[in-house]
Amino acid sequence: MPPKMTEPTAPPKERALMVGIEFRNSSRLLNLEDSLNELEQLAHTAGLDVIGSITQSLNHPNPDTLIGSGKVEEISALIEEYQADIVLFDEELSPRHLRGLEEKFSDAVQVVDRTALILHIFAQHANTREGILQVELAQYEYRLPRLTRAWTHLARQTGGGGGRTGSMGGVGLRGPGETQLEVDRREIRRRISALKSELEKVRMHRKQYRVNRKRSRIPVVTLVGYTNVGKSTLLNRLAGSQVFVADQLFATLDPTTRKVKLPNGQTVLFSDTVGFIQNLPTQLVAAFRATLEEISEADLLIHVVDITHVNSLEQWRSVNDTLQQIGAGNLPVITALNKIDGLPSTEIAEHIFPNLTDVVLISALNGTGLSHLEALVQSKLAGASSQIKVYLPYEMGHLISLFHDEGDIKTIINGAEGVTIEGIIPVGLLPQFKPYIRAQDKKHKSGRL
Ligand code: GDP
Ligand code: MG
Repeated sequence: MPPKMTEPTAPPKERALMVGIEFRNSSRLLNLEDSLNELEQLAHTAGLDVIGSITQSLNHPNPDTLIGSGKVEEISALIEEYQADIVLFDEELSPRHLRGLEEKFSDAVQVVDRTALILHIFAQHANTREGILQVELAQYEYRLPRLTRAWTHLARQTGGGGGRTGSMGGVGLRGPGETQLEVDRREIRRRISALKSELEKVRMHRKQYRVNRKRSRIPVVTLVGYTNVGKSTLLNRLAGSQVFVADQLFATLDPTTRKVKLPNGQTVLFSDTVGFIQNLPTQLVAAFRATLEEISEADLLIHVVDITHVNSLEQWRSVNDTLQQIGAGNLPVITALNKIDGLPSTEIAEHIFPNLTDVVLISALNGTGLSHLEALVQSKLAGASSQIKVYLPYEMGHLISLFHDEGDIKTIINGAEGVTIEGIIPVGLLPQFKPYIRAQDKKHKSGRL
């Protein structure tokens, strides 16, 4: 394969060779081919040029290099022949495997795994102060146990000033020795704790904003879904706004919120979030926990699905798994099967998702089905709150404050040992209040938040 010609003004793209591994008895969500396709799309998003892929079936991983020694040689030959700059593994590499592989390949070649690639993309796309800090933290935590090269390399990777990175930073510097490494590790730990305390400050600020938002009692509808399904496009359609849309994975990173007036006149906030992906790197989920947990505070979710994608069902499942993990698994949800303009017939959609309730077929691109979606949002929001009367003993102070913070109190009567409160709460909180509902008042009336 001859090297591809690049535009005279465009910087030369780094050339990546992908490596996919099929483990026996693996319970992965996507099969190897689909997973490699996704990796290729991630690589393009990161601005890499993918020159091809190589796969291996494994019973037992090699302790030093993950893949077998024969495969390592095969890859070395391919690197030479096609002038690859990067060997891109579809799996997350342990620190030991990464070191082992780096030793086998020439110094000019960089070994990158799926996790590092996703972190890199997040770093490219972070815009808000919090987003930038979160990505930087995730990158340092990923790098710390894997530090084998000199600090200069790492400083370039994470950009120092704000977490932006240009290239994948293919620098071949070996660490000058244990002592320097120790110094570097200490420096990284210092930066990690500095980042954490700065994040804490940013979050306190935002928490205040959220408290104010709750006081204003405007319902929040959050768009969730796999990356690239059309969440930002839908937000733009609904809100008439200009949120960045791109045929890229993770074009949106920081939550964006827009005010929308529904046909019945009710004002709601629509919030667009970071897209999900199978096996989101754990460092990323940890660093973005605060952002992700905000999803669980929504009054209603719209789970957007790209119905034209070959893995739409797997993507839908993967998003549901992540929603469970972040405590948003029990929220009311509408499923919006998007991009139906690309379907020859809508029967396909009904075939893939046969038993779901609250499903709408839409095209965020040309507007099909959006009035139906808005009508469904209205009716779901109307059912999203519940009127109750509870007697809370004073020792249940946390429930009393929860009612104050999240509910709408109509009457409150302080007694000798507890307080009787009547008002409206989001249905998601019903289970917590259920034991304290006054027996004669146990039927809930439906109301609006
Ligand atoms: P997000 O990652 O979920 O926010 O997805 P985006 O809104 O950025 O859209 C990803 C890609 O899908 C873009 O190229 C959009 O133009 C495209 N897209 C979004 N909605 C539709 C749709 O209804 N039909 C078609 N054909 N393409 C769509
Ligand atoms: Mg988006």
